[in-house]
Formats: sequence, C-alpha cells, structure tokens
Amino acid sequence: MSSTTAFTAPAPVGLAEPLPVLGAEVEVPLVSGEKVGYAALDYAASAPALRRVWEDVAAYAPYYGSVHRGAGYLSQLSTDLYEQSRQAVTDFLDLREGDQVVFTRATTDSLNLLAAAVPAGTRVFAFETEHHASLLPWQHAGLSVSYLRAPRSHAEAVAALDAALADCPQGPRLLCVTGASNVTGELWPIAELTETAHRHGARVVVDAAQLAPHHRISVRELDVDWIAFSGHKLYAPFGAGVLAGRADWLDAAEPYLAGGGASRTVARQEDGSVAVEWHRGPARHEAGSPNVIGAYAIASACRALTEAGWEALREREERLVERLTEGLAAIPEVRVLNLFGAGSARVGVLSFVVRGWNSSHFSAALSAEYGIGVRDGLFCAHPLVRTLLGGEEAAPSECGAPEPSLPGERSLNAIRVSFGAGTPLEHVDRFLAAVRELVTDGARWSYRNEGGRCVADTRR
Ligand code: PMP
Repeated sequence: MSSTTAFTAPAPVGLAEPLPVLGAEVEVPLVSGEKVGYAALDYAASAPALRRVWEDVAAYAPYYGSVHRGAGYLSQLSTDLYEQSRQAVTDFLDLREGDQVVFTRATTDSLNLLAAAVPAGTRVFAFETEHHASLLPWQHAGLSVSYLRAPRSHAEAVAALDAALADCPQGPRLLCVTGASNVTGELWPIAELTETAHRHGARVVVDAAQLAPHHRISVRELDVDWIAFSGHKLYAPFGAGVLAGRADWLDAAEPYLAGGGASRTVARQEDGSVAVEWHRGPARHEAGSPNVIGAYAIASACRALTEAGWEALREREERLVERLTEGLAAIPEVRVLNLFGAGSARVGVLSFVVRGWNSSHFSAALSAEYGIGVRDGLFCAHPLVRTLLGGEEAAPSECGAPEPSLPGERSLNAIRVSFGAGTPLEHVDRFLAAVRELVTDGARWSYRNEGGRCVADTRR
C-alpha cells in the first residue's frame, strides 16, 4: 500500500482570483467517455491567451493594415500601433535610454538574431543547463562557446563564470543565461552574474522566456545588456517575440534578414550590382512586413500584467507553488528535480519523476483519465535534465515499459507541470489528487506507443 494520503489542505485564505484566460471553460473528453474541464498545466510550453489580449486584438482587427508601407488611414494607424507596442515593451522591461526593442518571432529567433549580430570573434559563455534556444545559436553562428558545467548553487554559478572570464580576459565576450529554468522553474542569480560579467568587461543576454510571464523585470536595475522573451508564453500567442537591449552591437551588425523594411535605399550601380544602405535601429533587423498583431498582443499582455500588479501576481503564484511542492513532498514516490536544492526560489514550473513509472505513461494517464495537460520528456534542455536524472545517457523511453521500478534506478525522462496567472487553485489540487491516485491505484486504462507518443489504448 502506498504511504500517500488523500488529504487536501484547505484553500489558502485571501488568494486573489486568477486573471481571465481563454480556454478556462473548455471541456475535454476522458478515455472513459466522460467530459471534464481541461486543467492546462503546461504554461511553460505555451500559456493560454489572456482574455484582455484577445479582446484588444479583436478590437483592432478590423483596422488591421500594413506597417511602415502604406499611405492609407489604416496603414498609418497600424504603423502607430506597432511603434506604440515597442514603447509598451520598453516600459514593461524598464529599458534604459537608447535601448532598442526588436520584434522577432519568439525567444529562439531573438537569440539567433543576437548570435548573428555580435562582433566577429566574440566568445560566448553559457551554462550547459540552458534551454537549447540559449545553448545552440552561438555555435551555429560560428562563434566559439565555453559551456560551463551545471552549478549546484547560485554561488557556484557566479564563481564558475568569474573563473571562466578570468581565463579569457580579451575581446568581446557574452554570457547567455536563463532568468528562470524551463525545467526546474528555479530562478538564476541574474544581477550577481551580470555584475561579475561586467567586472570582466563581458556582456549579458538573459533568456527571459520563463521569467517574463512570472516576474517584474527591470533591465535598468538588473543592468543586463539584452533580454529575450516569447509572446506565446506571455499570454499573447500571436507569433511575436522580443529582443531588447543595447543598440550598439545591433546597429553595427549586418541585418538579420535582408529585404524591404531593413533597407533605407537601394541603388543600381554602374557595374550592375546594387548598393544598399541599411536602416539603423530596430528596423535594421525587422525586414519583411512586421507582425503588428503579434506585437500589439505582446503590448497588451505587458499592460495587463502591469495593471494586475506584480506583487499580487507573485503572491498568488507563490501560494500555488507552495501548495504544489508541499503536496508532492507528501508523496514518497515522487522526486522533484532541483538544481539548487529543495528550498530554492522558483516560478510556477516544476519537473519530477515518479518511482516505478515511465514519465510518458504517467503524463498520458493524467491526460486520458483526468483531463490534465502536462508535458513529459527532456524539455529541450537535454544536458540539464540528464544531469538532474543522474545519468549520462538518456533516450526517449518506451511507453508502457515499466521503468524505473526500484528506488535509486534512474528515469529516462521527466514530467513537467507549469502554471501562471490564469491558473485556479483547483487545477493544482486536481493535479495533486490525480498524482496521488495514480501512485496509489495505478492507471485504470492500458497505454501503448503511437508514433512516439504514449496514448490510451482505445482499440477493442
Ligand atoms: N528559453 C526557454 C527557457 C524556454 O523555456 C523556451 C521555450 N520552451 C525557449 C527559450 C524557446 O522559446 P520559443 O520556443 O518561444 O522560441
């Protein structure tokens, strides 16, 4: 018999209401044929749209027009809206005088843009714990990268960077570091790392994909050089992202994409070639027709979060995190993955493994039998998850293959639960109750592997 209990703690007193999001009333079918309200607990992958964002976009949609390339009224209106959206992001991030906001497709795009823009010969430093979007663009752009080993505390992270920069004192150098881990949700010591980097003359870009939806960010106070984030994780899923920060390297670089919008003048030369004068400023890296709806949606989300108040949002989220961590701690079969120790501060993102369970199987059962959406796998951070699981080699595991069943045996992948401003307490409680029940009673259905996904076997 499992040592778990069915106890659910009373709801915290005075918990603020979640922000209204789309999908809150959506019902999904269970494998039994019943329907239940969907518990979206995969915000770290993509968060639902804030209702406010959806309404702002819907109100603008009839006025939609081309940006920076039309004489008509709607083109002018759309151009104004696009540029005002830049200002909203500037305010949201508390940028410094002279900083730029470049609209991109998402964080991956932002970091690839920066990788293409840094001065030739820049040496990049990244902890091996980064998401692949922060880990890979540098090498891909032909830069030399020093991968720093996974630190087990904030102090170790700062000391490792200090030593690495001391060993490489010359030339342009850049640290790329996450603000909050997409695997453990743990916060990284951005201000301390930035202070260390700057002392050595290096610059810092923060991957804020998981930080921006959960925390106030002041670029001015943190003193970081660039910030990157995605609209679809910030309740604004309309295909835009942001790279914001220092203008000098961006203005000196070749445009990220060549085309209209980035070019100021193009003239045919005597020899048959064309001479191009490129824009400076954000337009330089925004060739092509801008995604005005995506940018406006991000601006709307920035305003909505600011108006809701970071203090209230943080307090609410911390209560949910507490509820979750305490609930999971009471289930001995569950092991929560932490890099910096059990007490380290985190946003509403947490990964875990369950003794005796294949993580894909467990996640599939949460979906099929409880209507709860989480994610399983290595979360595009393979080196980190492998470190946390305690193995060097990991491969996608076979659904249905029982692993690992003995204490101390390692899992091959993990389960991630994540939430945010739109999550009701009830979703966290339902999740905890489902985990307890699965651990105690097992899955009620059988599961099989279908095209690499673990799914309930509905064949008769
Ligand atoms: N960095 C982190 C920390 C992330 O969690 C993600 C998305 N999972 C990314 C970067 C990449 O973001 P996107 O897929 O929106 O480009």
